[in-house]
Amino acid sequence: MLMQQTQPMTLETPPAVNLYDLTLPELGDLMKRWGQPAFRTKQIWTQMYRNLAPSFDAMSDLPAALRERLKAEVQLGVLKLTREQVADDGDTRKVLWQLPDGNVLESVLMRYPDRATVCISTQSGCAMGCVFCATGRMGLLRNLTPGQIVEQVLYFARGLKQDTFDSVTHHERVTNIVFMGMGEPFANYDRWYASVERLHDPQGFNLGARNLTVSTVGLVPGIRRLASEKLPINLAISLHAPNDELRSALMPVNKKYPITELMAATQEYIEQTHRRVSFEYVLLQGQNDTVEHAEQLADLIQGMLCHVNLIPWNPVPGAPLERSHRKRVQEFQQVLQNRGIACTVRMERGVAIAAACGQLAAVPQPA
Ligand code: SAH
Ligand code: SF4
Repeated sequence: MLMQQTQPMTLETPPAVNLYDLTLPELGDLMKRWGQPAFRTKQIWTQMYRNLAPSFDAMSDLPAALRERLKAEVQLGVLKLTREQVADDGDTRKVLWQLPDGNVLESVLMRYPDRATVCISTQSGCAMGCVFCATGRMGLLRNLTPGQIVEQVLYFARGLKQDTFDSVTHHERVTNIVFMGMGEPFANYDRWYASVERLHDPQGFNLGARNLTVSTVGLVPGIRRLASEKLPINLAISLHAPNDELRSALMPVNKKYPITELMAATQEYIEQTHRRVSFEYVLLQGQNDTVEHAEQLADLIQGMLCHVNLIPWNPVPGAPLERSHRKRVQEFQQVLQNRGIACTVRMERGVAIAAACGQLAAVPQPA
């Protein structure tokens, strides 16, 4: 008997697979379906993540027929570079990308004498609505796929390897990745963590887990999950206020995961992993930056295996806030140091091109 067609027919063809979205076994399955010998999988993987091949044509060790089939049936990346801006004599480079659906995201390369760090987005926009953050004002537009997260890194890695970026500082490879661009990584946990595994893969991009840092707004389930993962990546927690009233006013997420709960999860994380966490604290003049706030913060975290990163707020157009004055920053730091808490003030990068922390909003900058 003939089966009746119950699904409506659609004329749309599904978008071609982005090869960066596949794991090694998934790429193996694809090659098997295509009747390719097993060694092709490793060959393509090496081209993608070791040689950083920019196109299928550049994979010159593959037979021409296979290259043609790849070109016709799958994609080597889907992000479209729509703008690139450079600051700090070439040491800071910000890229605006467009997704196939038109949504946008940004990534930044920062070169220092001893390292080349890329700051990567995990979502287009962000749902968390922190009042001091440009990305928070966009709302959540889209979760990025593992491939789209990885592609951002590979772009910069390729430029460094081929030495196509003019800069004062010279590096041949990306040494550090911080998931501190647009979005909340733990709100896109599975895809974000798949990108971590891909970037860490010793057969592929091979970046040590200790060179990766994830920053979270404080999603407690994510902190708990990370504690049980095998890879020892670094954890940074955006704290920004030492009491619930203030933190809830600055960061709506605090109503769901208040400070006591966040601190308990962080302490458990430290006990389970024996790894030092970083607390990030954006300094806002007159809001969270007094000596009393510093004392409260010290009360909260004293004795924990931690480090505090003070970040003078980077301006966001239209936000009725002000960056803490230099003297306030110094006093705040002093209080923490007097209490024996390790504390640094984060160096600013790319403020002129709105590439600094919390400025990523993917809007054109005034000329
Ligand atoms: N969503 C994650 C990671 C991305 S934001 C998080 O919130 O942790 C990366 C860091 O930049 C966070 O610590 C965030 O609080 C901080 N930040 C946001 N807006 C900022 C601004 N305008 N100036 C300085 N830091 C900012
Ligand atoms: Fe989202 Fe982080 Fe910005 Fe908050 S600070 S809105 S969590 S990107």
